[in-house]
Amino acid sequence: MSRGLLIVFAGASGVGKGTMMKRMLSENVNCRLSISATTRLPREGEQNGREYYFVTREEFQNLIEQNGFLEYAEYVGNFYGTPKKPVFDMLDQGIDVFLEIELKGFLQIKEACPECVSIFVVPPSFEELQLRLQGRGTESAEVIAERLMTAQREMEHQHLFDYVVVNDDVDRAAKEVLSIIAKIKSKEIK
Ligand code: 5GP
Repeated sequence: MSRGLLIVFAGASGVGKGTMMKRMLSENVNCRLSISATTRLPREGEQNGREYYFVTREEFQNLIEQNGFLEYAEYVGNFYGTPKKPVFDMLDQGIDVFLEIELKGFLQIKEACPECVSIFVVPPSFEELQLRLQGRGTESAEVIAERLMTAQREMEHQHLFDYVVVNDDVDRAAKEVLSIIAKIKSKEIK
């Protein structure tokens, strides 16, 4: 059995990564999403252990000290990190693992696991992203402004990723990502 593929799935906040991910997971049984730990408070409808492990700053700090993260980063005032062991366990079992992470985390993964495949999702336009973030209504105007500034900065680094996918339509974009993964696995492309 071959080792699973580690796939970094990044893109601006509000670009629709979460919805794309749900489609991809439902269509490809050999893929899982790594569940991150975060110090951010849960949004309405989010459950501990499903979207994230919601932890205190102290618990997050302890995990850092125990070398429990594959990567971690601060993003708009909160910490986010990928627990190391579950990811390695899944890869060893031949399962492909998605990491839905931001840019600083990706740069750490690229360094630690250069064999990873990286995909960056972009919106059809920056205006569209602004509308989506405002329409979501889950963040204050101040946080939205900060997330948009971070998005702009992240989008300037999209050339560092192996693939860039435009989320103009969730079904189409999710299919494109799955097709990239299938081609890599059949060694048609890197
Ligand atoms: P949100 O607060 O919208 O759920 O996530 C904010 C940003 O943090 C998103 O870009 C998301 O992909 C990223 N993120 C989520 N989990 C992790 C993680 O474990 N590590 C890093 N570096 N970023 C993460």
